[in-house]
Amino acid sequence: MEKAKEYIAAVYKKVEERDPHQVEFLQAVKEFFDTIEPVLVRHPKMIEENILERIVEPERLIQFRVPWTDDEGNVQVNRAFRAQFSSAIGPYKGGLRFHPSVNQSIVKFLGFEQIFKNSLTGLPIGGGKGGSDFNPKGKSDFEVMRFCQSFMTELQKYIGPDTDVPAGDIGVGGREIGYLFGQYKKLNGFGAGVLTGKPIPMGGSLARTEATGYGLVYFTNEMLKDVGRTFKGQKVVVSGSGNVAIYAIEKVHQLGGTVIACSDSDGYILDLEGINVETVKRLKEVERKRISEYVNEHTSAEYIEGSIWELENEFQIALPSATQNEINGITAKKLVAQGVYAVAEGANMPSDLEAIKVYQEHGVLYGPAKAANAGGVAVSALEMSQNSIRLSWTFEEVDDRLKDIMATIYQQCRDVAKEYGVEGDFVSGANIAGFLKVAEAMLSQGVV
Ligand code: GLU
Repeated sequence: MEKAKEYIAAVYKKVEERDPHQVEFLQAVKEFFDTIEPVLVRHPKMIEENILERIVEPERLIQFRVPWTDDEGNVQVNRAFRAQFSSAIGPYKGGLRFHPSVNQSIVKFLGFEQIFKNSLTGLPIGGGKGGSDFNPKGKSDFEVMRFCQSFMTELQKYIGPDTDVPAGDIGVGGREIGYLFGQYKKLNGFGAGVLTGKPIPMGGSLARTEATGYGLVYFTNEMLKDVGRTFKGQKVVVSGSGNVAIYAIEKVHQLGGTVIACSDSDGYILDLEGINVETVKRLKEVERKRISEYVNEHTSAEYIEGSIWELENEFQIALPSATQNEINGITAKKLVAQGVYAVAEGANMPSDLEAIKVYQEHGVLYGPAKAANAGGVAVSALEMSQNSIRLSWTFEEVDDRLKDIMATIYQQCRDVAKEYGVEGDFVSGANIAGFLKVAEAMLSQGVV
């Protein structure tokens, strides 16, 4: 016991000394390390073969320059990354994020989380993540296209259907994947399996667009079922208004809940009659406008500037689906006081370490990101399968598989937590279940 504790502390110290300024990455590592002791006690070989120090170091971290020309003819330069974190159980797999905040720390935290998330899906995919500090907001389609072309001209050297398969994340949707794929194809020929989240006519999977949001709600539903509850009659708040949030709202409504608020980075809309998801879809996906425009079409709604988590209304279920660290300890306490008994994460690491502590102290049902939002990457893996066998499954076939995968992930988190003596702690359950498969693969592959 002592030996495992000392080993974990020593490795964490080393990680901190190596990258003292990578706060998001250190936070993700700390959350993981805090749960892993029971595994190392049971499997001392993992200490002997120094699995932890190996797993926190990306197998490869690529940084590159992306020069492109804006509509005024000025040459712009962005910085881009791809963290190829772990290929222990399959090709690197994970999204690309285009957002001004993207740096090495963000890409590494996302890539690290992706290892365990992907393992939890039960599908053969390793962990990776990439992105750029490019801001697509306010750019014309042609500017986005030229950026994507320049980005892919470099990235294509490092990816492929059996080595590394990127997809979307914040700022990267069907439009960007289309442009990225077009450039990949120009340089390498048609290879559908190199990217996922593709538009349907070029080898995309039905239900991929919906997968993260639907999967999040399927996971939450399993969590509720286990304590004899359902979404029926529940008031729900979903932060964000991007791809994850939109399809989470749609599914909550299908299951009888009411989403009363959603947001973007400037503010949030409150609509006690229930958010009209078709309006949000059109505003955000087609017209690329701000969420504040919603109130022009719905008199039942009001727009409030600031964080959605400052809203004062009572509600029962929170689905944070915007970005990392949107909920801290103080916000979490406020949510509990407002009647929230379940939180499940559509975004990656939206709750900080203090917030997680608050959920646990107050017995809030808590679905951590790497389990609750794994539906997106799971259907990405199903897209890879369809590309390999050159067939397309129906929407229902993919959606049924997604439902099964989310139910299995929930059961794994619950059962593994119990097996390792931390019943009801799904953070530990998700980390341990995801880690076991990867660590076992690393042990059988030797020190490589
Ligand atoms: N960006 C998504 C995630 O955080 C999806 C990744 C993928 O489909 O590869 O899991």
